[in-house]
Amino acid sequence: MVNYEPGQDRNVAALSNLVMCDGFCKMKNIKERYMRLALKEAKKAELLDEVPIGCVIVKDNKVISRGFNKRELKKDVTSHAEIEAIRRASKKLGDWQLIDCDLYVTIEPCLMCTGAIIQSRIKNVYYGSEDSKGGALVSSLNINEAKNLNHHINIEGGILKDECSNIVKQYFAKKRKNKTLG
Ligand SMILES: [Zn+2]
Repeated sequence: MVNYEPGQDRNVAALSNLVMCDGFCKMKNIKERYMRLALKEAKKAELLDEVPIGCVIVKDNKVISRGFNKRELKKDVTSHAEIEAIRRASKKLGDWQLIDCDLYVTIEPCLMCTGAIIQSRIKNVYYGSEDSKGGALVSSLNINEAKNLNHHINIEGGILKDECSNIVKQYFAKKRKNKTLG
């Protein structure tokens, strides 16, 4: 459907709608492309029998770091995908401040990771599926409503939502099945 202002040439309106749609589709494709890379990280976690959550950090249209959940492997509660990726990005940039960086993560970040994201000054956070229990961006807390924070993040969820949520669901279903069989 073409939206046009009263008196506006229909062809001009159609063209401007097309340009807007083109821009929107390109942005959507870019976000999905990065989320697929985060999903690839999640699959690495799955192979190691870790809860499959993956993350990538992007700056100037380049992936500068990747990370996946390694909590069991490292026996370290802070080894969530986001923290792993933030550590690597800081190392790469030689700075704890990740200005103008975007973080893509398959599942909504928890309270710990949200804290690290805010502290590191990451600009935009894109997540796949919400985490109704542990998610601290929009689910159990709404971090952007917190007062007096000196940095706020832009948040967008639902990117490749089903794929991001299914990989976790399947992981836990398999775990339950193995437990029953065992
Ligand atoms: Zn976390």
